[in-house]
Amino acid sequence: AAPRLIAVDPATDRPGQSYRGHTSEEAKGFAREAHAAWLGWRRTSFAERAERMRAAAAVLRRRQAEFAALMTAEMGKTRTEGLAEIEKCAVNCDWFAEHAEGFLARRPVDMGPGSKAFVTFNPLGVVLAVMPWNFPFWQVFRFAAPTLMAGNAAVLKHASNVPGCALAIEAVFREAGFPEGLFRTALIPGKAVRELIEDDHLAAVTLTGSVEAGRQVAAAAGGVLKKCVLELGGSDAYLVLSDADAQKAAEVAAAARMVNAGQSCIAGKRFIVTSPVREAFEAALVEKMQAYRMGDPNDAATRLGPLQSVKARDDIHDQVRRSVAAGARLLTGGEIPDRPGAWYPPTVLSEVKPGMPAYDEEVFGPVAAVIEAAGEAEAIAIANASRFGLGSGVLTSDLARGERIAAEELEAGMSFVNANVRSDPRLPFGGVKESGYGRECSEFGIHEFVNIKSVLVA
Ligand code: NDP
Repeated sequence: AAPRLIAVDPATDRPGQSYRGHTSEEAKGFAREAHAAWLGWRRTSFAERAERMRAAAAVLRRRQAEFAALMTAEMGKTRTEGLAEIEKCAVNCDWFAEHAEGFLARRPVDMGPGSKAFVTFNPLGVVLAVMPWNFPFWQVFRFAAPTLMAGNAAVLKHASNVPGCALAIEAVFREAGFPEGLFRTALIPGKAVRELIEDDHLAAVTLTGSVEAGRQVAAAAGGVLKKCVLELGGSDAYLVLSDADAQKAAEVAAAARMVNAGQSCIAGKRFIVTSPVREAFEAALVEKMQAYRMGDPNDAATRLGPLQSVKARDDIHDQVRRSVAAGARLLTGGEIPDRPGAWYPPTVLSEVKPGMPAYDEEVFGPVAAVIEAAGEAEAIAIANASRFGLGSGVLTSDLARGERIAAEELEAGMSFVNANVRSDPRLPFGGVKESGYGRECSEFGIHEFVNIKSVLVA
């Protein structure tokens, strides 16, 4: 029998609701059912798919407060961020309902007289989605809306600490009138994923999560030669150039760092500041970070709730402690509050250098690392000297300079000037290097799980 999954409230560290887990046999049964449902779904019109996808958006909006509360209870997200996340999922469903047909329309190719040729985009089959807890709804809808609109089916293996969210997402698609079995949630542990990837009813896999989980999933997919998309960690660098306005730069930096209590792959993690503005920027950053006061995540005014778990909080504190021991200067935060739950204050480390965890590793919490650089060239070199390449930013008052650095210099999948990186259905999302491969969102995202097929009629 499969073990039960118990949600733990990060605000109190007390166990909440428990759920019956699924066995590997049950999970494979879901894959079989999804495949059977896919055989009908792949022949439906875009209009029919769009109608269901818009219905899913409506379900999300109707149950918005309930779903936000579920996220707060399972992984500690503030109510305000939870409500916004559900609305973003609904917008994404509507957006792909609107645009999928255009992105996947047959494209004629001129092969000269006497033959007709075109490219068609056919669905692949059942896609397995291995998803993380940090944006329990958004990560799944970001994948599911384009994937289902393309005519595929899906099996979701969500993170083990958000079982309620995992089942609620399945319920959204059922309530929206998608065919029975087309989208199924399997409550299985990470170690059961390989066997599922190898199942003949699955065509492809996508994973959002850690580098280590990405390696394992890519190896399993490689073993059976199945398509794989990976969205892994990041250690996003923001360059603060000498011409930057320290206040404005710190505002963007704090927003980039503190999204979801710092638990985002595209959170700003390293702030590479050129010497002339370092002092002013640091002072402004400390002030803006401190404005994220810890509080009850259910309170609409709270900007910083608990982290996802006490264990994750302890790991982050250890990274801070080891960075300070190696010479980093603690400007604010860095102390575990004396109360139960996964609480950690906004923290700023200065004089962060190679060899320190805050420089070398991804810090998945509310901890900003300030790294000093002599000038633009050195700042770019430091930003790129990372095994990650997900998002990045340039903070400057010279827009042409910012644009040049963003477009040509930074080794990352996304580079924003004077704004914090965020995902948006209109823009491709993904990384280079150990941040993974493949793209989500936009036309590029919907093309990941289709057979891009050439047809020639002579
Ligand atoms: P994990 O990568 O462990 O979890 C993400 C998902 O992968 C979960 O569904 C998890 O399942 C599953 N998983 C874990 N190990 C395997 C495996 N060997 N094979 C298949 N699936 C697996 O992330 P954590 O939650 O442990 O977070 C650790 C780090 O990952 C963070 O510090 C951060 O660096 C990164 N991360 C990045 C995210 C992003 O948005 N890119 C999101 C979350 C984390 P289960 O829960 O059952 O273990």
